[in-house]
Amino acid sequence: MRPLVKAQQLLRDFNITTIPALSITQIFAHYSIIYDEMEYDDLNYMGSLIRAEDKVIILVNTDIKNAGRINFTKAHELGHFTLNHRGQKFECSRADLFDFARKPLEIEANQFAKEFLLPEQMVKPILMSAPFDFDTIQSIANGFMVSKIVAVFRMLEFHMGNYAVIASKNGVVTHLGMSKGLIGKVNLLKIGSSIDNKSFARECLISNFRMNGYSSIDVKAWITKNKLGSTIALKEYSRADKSSGSVLTLLKMDFL
Ligand SMILES: [Zn+2]
Repeated sequence: MRPLVKAQQLLRDFNITTIPALSITQIFAHYSIIYDEMEYDDLNYMGSLIRAEDKVIILVNTDIKNAGRINFTKAHELGHFTLNHRGQKFECSRADLFDFARKPLEIEANQFAKEFLLPEQMVKPILMSAPFDFDTIQSIANGFMVSKIVAVFRMLEFHMGNYAVIASKNGVVTHLGMSKGLIGKVNLLKIGSSIDNKSFARECLISNFRMNGYSSIDVKAWITKNKLGSTIALKEYSRADKSSGSVLTLLKMDFL
């Protein structure tokens, strides 16, 4: 069964109409899934699904401190289980749990997790036209108990405007995505490349500069190719978490 249909079926079967993350424990109990947290030797691992004889075990790495990330990892492993992915053991890495996962079963588990935690039916009406800013991201993250990264990437899927998101750590791009309206029109900095020295993201990272809205920025700071050839007015809105070196950058584009 397709991941989205399966997630929707589970939401219906368990009569989940509010915060899906709060129902995970009940679902694990229903399927007699043993849940535990474990210290992994490898920091790269987020969680596992293990089928051992008559038991099913889901483990999450104790190093994950963020409640939203723990919920996403649990939902991802639940996805492997409910989608009947074959295999005795799934050990899922950080890369497997993001949108740039390449393995088909990991992509399916992520699609399931996103639809389960942030069901289209509940969030699309809000996200289609909500302000594309940090207040909306925070309210979705808090309201549905997901991480800000999961919230902002879900927002990109439904928003009607021309927006892109770039996450970076210590000045290097780690995630990126764009709203449907932008796909095919521009190329952004690639994952693994350094953020521009003149970007607001860089300034937020190295100083106490704090943004409270979008500001105009040179197109070259973030866009590597303009496929339409028309003039683009680019605006950036970045927020840094200096303790972790992470910066989340929102980009708004107007084609003139
Ligand atoms: Zn996985």
